[in-house]
Parts: sequence; structure tokens; C-alpha cells
Amino acid sequence: MIGALTQGTRRDFLRRMGSAALGLTAGWARLGLANAQEQRKPNFVIIFCDDLGYGDLSCYGAKKIRTPNLDRMAEEGMHFNSFYACAPVCTPSRAGLLTGRYPIRSGLTNVLFPNSQDGIDDTEITLAEALKTCGYATACIGKWHLGHQPSFLPTRHGFDYYFGIPYSNDMDVPKRGDPPIPLMRNEAIIEQPADQDTLTRRYTEEARRFIAEHKNEPFFLYLPHTMPHVPLHASPSFAGRSPGGLYGDVVEEIDWSVGEILAELKQQGLDGNTLVIFTSDNGPWLSQRENGGSAGKLRLGKGTTFEGGMREPCIMRWPGTIRAGSVYDGPSGTLDLFPTLVGLAGGSLPEGRVYDGCDIRPVLMEEGVRPAKEFYYFNGQELQACRHGRWKAKKPFKGNVYGEPLEHPWLLFDLERDPGETTNLADRHPAILASLQMKMDQFRKDLGDVPKAKR
Ligand code: MG
Repeated sequence: MIGALTQGTRRDFLRRMGSAALGLTAGWARLGLANAQEQRKPNFVIIFCDDLGYGDLSCYGAKKIRTPNLDRMAEEGMHFNSFYACAPVCTPSRAGLLTGRYPIRSGLTNVLFPNSQDGIDDTEITLAEALKTCGYATACIGKWHLGHQPSFLPTRHGFDYYFGIPYSNDMDVPKRGDPPIPLMRNEAIIEQPADQDTLTRRYTEEARRFIAEHKNEPFFLYLPHTMPHVPLHASPSFAGRSPGGLYGDVVEEIDWSVGEILAELKQQGLDGNTLVIFTSDNGPWLSQRENGGSAGKLRLGKGTTFEGGMREPCIMRWPGTIRAGSVYDGPSGTLDLFPTLVGLAGGSLPEGRVYDGCDIRPVLMEEGVRPAKEFYYFNGQELQACRHGRWKAKKPFKGNVYGEPLEHPWLLFDLERDPGETTNLADRHPAILASLQMKMDQFRKDLGDVPKAKR
């Protein structure tokens, strides 16, 4: 019953918003705007890395990895210091970005594998679907990882065009029965195994082409890179060049790719009308040692709800709208992108469902801060931590992290003073810890029944 209702709500939303978008276009025509380009809705480009650490860009403190294009992008735009992915692993992080909701709400809490039969539910409304109703052309170029069976592919969930691999680039383990990694265009496999050395370069070429082809209409380009997830691959022109080893080569090629995309936007005259966002799905895969990235000053990495697992580099650039050289220290994250981009596109949030992020347009324009909303850290279906303002509480844990035993009681950190989570203040501030514990209990209760985890 609930499923049927939600499905109906989604269909109603897409229909209603579709006619609203048409109405707006007609309104512009009536106004007889001489320069449609100037009045145009902004374009959006989201560049989403895979397993890039907080400390992996020069502008976030990397010493051996050279990222001149990203450094310039930060100088020309806004540098975020506390930007969160909404999960410490691939699938749920992507689900959260594209639905604007904690992944537990969509059941996409686990990493999907080549033998998975499940994927993103048809009742979910993706950011691409919401933007399509506002008149946007949409493309997903890169790693999808929200289900590879036909009904879950990007082309069935709001993207006009898809080019990329449908899941992680290491999911070709013969003894598990995995096939070689497929490279897809729309719904067809065009290469298998995908030539991974060329992926970053080909994604970039595809992205440039999409921008050029859609320069006369608003577009949303979602570019989830396959790299720097292991196995690491770089083009011959980047391999062996970085002082940061193969991992550095791969990140430097991503940096080149960012430069190419910014150059294409400039060449097409779209620079001042395009919001470009660069971030990553989760923190560095530290157990890969030299083939994994660095969380910089943050604690631990991928797979954990310490800051290193979910706090990401994030740069947003939009010349003329975002002030060059601006910095935002407050918490924000990928959950904020859905309401922000839909708002910028002139749309409104679909009714009948909870959105977990905030519209951060005031942050981008430096007209205000993000509302003080709690951020909840989930690992799979488990709610493990909560941040409110400067404070973060983390549940007791006993287990293994990267093969090393780890055990801790309730933790309380002051993230403004101690972003590396070195000093547990639980005994010193029991009332603050108790209030965060209450928020976690209440949030878990408010979630109610959640969908079974998809596998
Ligand atoms: Mg990842």
C-alpha cells in the first residue's frame, strides 16, 4: 500500500513539474527576452570522485599530489572545510546524493555487487528526474553503482544519456563468478573488459561533448569518476609522473580532467552560468596503503564513521555568483545538493517525502549560513554518530577496522577544535553527549519502518 502510494506520488510529481516547466518556458517566450542565454537557468556539473581522501588535493594539504586545476577552481570559487558524503562506502553515498535522502530511506545501504539483483527503486525521485521536470538535459558519465540490471540503470532514472561502468572497477573477481568489467553506453555493453587505463580520459571527452551538444539548453552533467578507486589506472601520459606514485598519477589525471571541463565551459561561453561541484563519495581506502589516499588531518577513512570516512574535499565554482576565494567552514554535504540545485532550477521539492539536506543557496551567495541541522552518520543500516554544530557523538564500537582491532566507548568530540577526533570529551561534557544521544534515539524512532536493505 505504501509502495503504491509513493509510486503515485512520484508519477504525480513528474507530471505536475513537467507542465510547470513548460509553463515557464512559455512565460519566457511571452516576455520576449532578447537574450535567452542571460535568462537561462544555470547548468550543473557534479564531479564525484571515488574514494578520494580529504587530504588528497594540494589545496587540502597534499604535498606529493599536484592539482593545479582544482587549486585554481578553489581560488575562483568556494572551498568547503566540513562537507560530508552521506555514507562511508560507494552505493549508499551515491543513493544519498541522487535522492537527497539518507540512504536508509531508499534501502540502498549496502554496496551492490555484480550478482546483485536489486537497485534503486522506481519510487525514488532522483536529482536527474527532478531537474528534467525543470527542463534540463541530463547525463551520467562514469560509475553508477545503484544497480546494473536494466530497470536500475541511469537511463531509467532520469538520465538522458549514460556512458560508464555500472559498478566498482574491482568487481571482476573470477572465483566469485564476476564477469569482466563492462563499459556501457546507455543500456548496451560496448566493451568488456573496459580498458581502465583510458576511462578518465574517455569520461572527460564524453563530458566535453555533452557540454558542447547542450550549450543551448540547461543541463545537468553528473560525472562520477571510476578513480581513484583501486585498481588504479592512469593514461600513459600520466602514469609514472606524480611524486605521489600511481595514486598521485590517477588524482593528477582527474585534476587534468577538471581543467578540461572548465575549459570547455569557457569555450562554450557557459562559464558564468554553470555551477561546478567537485567532491567524493567516501574517504580513502586506507587498507590499500600506497594505493589508497589520505584523509589528511582526519581520523581513519573509508568504511568508518570517523571524519576520514565521510568528510570530503569539496569545491564549488560559479563565476559571478560564488565569490572567488570564499571558504565555508560550517557543515554541509551531498544531501544539500538536491534541494539546492532544484531550487536554483526554479523547481520545488517533491511532496510527500522527507528530504534530509538544506537548500544552501544562502551559503553560496554568502548571505547566510546553513541552518543548524543535525548530520547523522550511518554505516549500512546502523546509525553510528551525530554531529550538531561543533559537537559529534559516536556510539561505542568493538570490531576490526582494516584488520586491526578497534574498541571504544561513547565518544564526544569538539570538531571545531579537534577535527582529527583525538580527544574524547564525553566525561567532561556529559550533558552535551546526552543531548546528542537523545537526538540519535529520536531520529532512529522517527525513521520508523525502513525498507529492507537491497542486495
Ligand atoms: Mg567509494
